[in-house]
Amino acid sequence: MDTTTGRLAGKATFITGAAAGIGREAALLFADEGASVAVVDRDGDGAAKVAAEITEAGGTAVGITADVAVEASVAAAIGNAEEAFGRLDVLFNNAGIMLADDGDAQSTEEAVWDLTMNVNLKGVWFGCRHGIPALRRTGGGSIINTASFVALVGAATPQLAYTASKGGVLAMTRELAVVHAREHIRVNALCPGPLRTELLMSFLDTKEKRQRRLVHVPMGRFGEASEIAAAALFLASDESSYVTGTDFSVDGGLTSAYVTPE
Ligand code: NAD
Repeated sequence: MDTTTGRLAGKATFITGAAAGIGREAALLFADEGASVAVVDRDGDGAAKVAAEITEAGGTAVGITADVAVEASVAAAIGNAEEAFGRLDVLFNNAGIMLADDGDAQSTEEAVWDLTMNVNLKGVWFGCRHGIPALRRTGGGSIINTASFVALVGAATPQLAYTASKGGVLAMTRELAVVHAREHIRVNALCPGPLRTELLMSFLDTKEKRQRRLVHVPMGRFGEASEIAAAALFLASDESSYVTGTDFSVDGGLTSAYVTPE
């Protein structure tokens, strides 16, 4: 761990959904690059485990249990992180869900729609609502909101609530970027392609289903959570100092492809 000369040296970061997948990889990478990391997840044991992994390796981290869909929980988590580190520089609103019974306009139940929106879209809003004042106290910072390629091109297999929630994340990110640009707060959306994480693989549980999805990916493979974490590191660091309001795609070329299989 390089806490003095790493790419995030001196920065205090807050990552939601950090017990698994992209968030976990980002927590480990950010810590490795010198950041203090608030490892936030509704899975408190998982968050504590990742935080312990970081501290055992010589880094600085706290595990925080929070549900991003509950405003008081998000407010408390941000307060705890700011208190632990004395500042907040980076807010990575990454937690998200994709429910098994999310379908098309007819089949998606209202409860599925509401839960998806509450976690994926309202959760990002709560993070920004309570995180922006903390970034202002620091004098600026970087917000990264995890959207998805589906916000740009839709999904070939229907998951309407998920797609709509990610479209909302992207639109909200753009407006926040414009509104807060003069306060030195950058806001970017990260748009991953299909990844080999629990979230997607629990759906694509047969070789046929996986192949069906890969038809759309020019690189012909799923992405790794670590490849998204690497992009988040760039957006979190000062290397991206002139980057705001983007839909930063890390998708193996998916959104540039026009393949429509039979
Ligand atoms: P994952 O399922 O591996 O990890 C998600 C983490 O978020 C889990 O630790 C989970 O406990 C946590 N979480 C879920 N709901 C929460 C809540 N209400 N409050 C706090 N924590 C909560 O998923 P992942 O693949 O790492 O996905 C991370 C983000 O990337 C999500 O927003 C997802 O929509 C997005 N994404 C994923 C893919 C993909 O193919 N995996 C593609 C595009 C975008």
